[in-house]
Amino acid sequence: MSNEALRQELVELDKKYFIHPSSSLKDQQENGPAIIFDRAEGVHVWDVNGKKYIEGMSSLWNVNIGYGRKEIAEVAKEQIEKCAYVSSFTGFSNEPAIRLAAKVAELAPGDLNASFLTSGGSESNDSAYKLVRHYWKVKGKPEKTNIVARKKAYHGVASGSTSATGIEAFHEFTTSLAPGFIHIDPDDPDAFRKVIEEQGADSIAAFLTEPIQGAGGVNFPKEGYLQEIRKICDENDILFIADEVINGFGRTGKMFACEHYDIVPDVMILAKGISSGYVQLGAVVFRDFLHKELIELSPGVLSHGFTYSGHPTACAVGLKNLEIMENENMVENSKVMGDLLADKLKELQKESNIVGEVRHLGLLGALEIVKDQETGERFPEKVAPKIVAEARERGLILRNVVFWDKDTIVFAPPLCINEEEVNEFARILKEAVLEVQKSL
Ligand code: PMP
Repeated sequence: MSNEALRQELVELDKKYFIHPSSSLKDQQENGPAIIFDRAEGVHVWDVNGKKYIEGMSSLWNVNIGYGRKEIAEVAKEQIEKCAYVSSFTGFSNEPAIRLAAKVAELAPGDLNASFLTSGGSESNDSAYKLVRHYWKVKGKPEKTNIVARKKAYHGVASGSTSATGIEAFHEFTTSLAPGFIHIDPDDPDAFRKVIEEQGADSIAAFLTEPIQGAGGVNFPKEGYLQEIRKICDENDILFIADEVINGFGRTGKMFACEHYDIVPDVMILAKGISSGYVQLGAVVFRDFLHKELIELSPGVLSHGFTYSGHPTACAVGLKNLEIMENENMVENSKVMGDLLADKLKELQKESNIVGEVRHLGLLGALEIVKDQETGERFPEKVAPKIVAEARERGLILRNVVFWDKDTIVFAPPLCINEEEVNEFARILKEAVLEVQKSL
């Protein structure tokens, strides 16, 4: 069968049988799937027609070490042959899960040392909310249930995490949000103080935040914001939960984004880069005092656990992924290549008259599209989607964020990217920006 005949067959089957996540059902029926991927290597992916792209988003900000690592395939094969899956319920355990949890403790800041394992970011978020509420319950403060989250935050799509998310589209989608979430101005610590004043610290279990907001447009915290929040949490006996699902595992040029801000959260939520997308994996990491108190105060069965919590194959893959990340200095590479890419995008800002702010930390970044570079005024109609489409035509996959007044292009390429690939990334993006600029 020719590549095109195969593609045609797959398009028809896709339309008939495959409901895509976070996609337009109508577009799928009218245009078929946007790209049908076939293979991947390093920072590149190929579609079934053989067209090559740089994956400028590491797929969903998750393929941190890059694609096609044979060592991971070997470890998965070995583990599947040896013992693909066993339960971690009722105290059962397995070596890959034990070693992965120990590795996460070694890497995580401060005394974040004990992990509850999951299969992804939404499971990790919902687990964190339930476990901190359980903690307050067994500590004799069952009324501490509310979780204060920030507007523009993204935390997932399970019942709790979609309710914690601060992007309207996710709330409007459903009829029934979970109770117990309060969304505040994302930049102002006084907004948190006000909630505490109005609702009472006795009703608040935790403050929840991505150190750097990802899906909401790569929004950096204002100077001193996270440190101030940490202080307010300490003063009011409120737990600090950091969602490092995108930020974690080298994405920002440090192992965890919290390290840039010198804060240690009480609970850290992880997924994505923990396995670089080779398998489904996530974790919720607790500081020692929480772990210790839970051991003392909650001696019965922890009535929370997924079939795949501590999945041996997933954990073996996660471990190998972290070994590769460390052995090949990918966290440092994220910093160096991130700076290089940002320099090139700042040159583009000068060459074009529609690129506004360029911001980044490591290989997590964004550029704003503006009508007026001086004032930051936006175009009446969003332009970022046109640039993203143009870049895709030319072989670079990016994402746009057009919630609220945003007209933003975000990027997060694999941490293994090299100088030549950074140049290629910047060249394609420049061509796409200048092409769209001509048409405005
Ligand atoms: N938290 C953050 C910060 C995320 O970016 C995401 C996913 N993009 C999630 C949680 C949810 O993760 P998952 O899609 O693996 O459930």
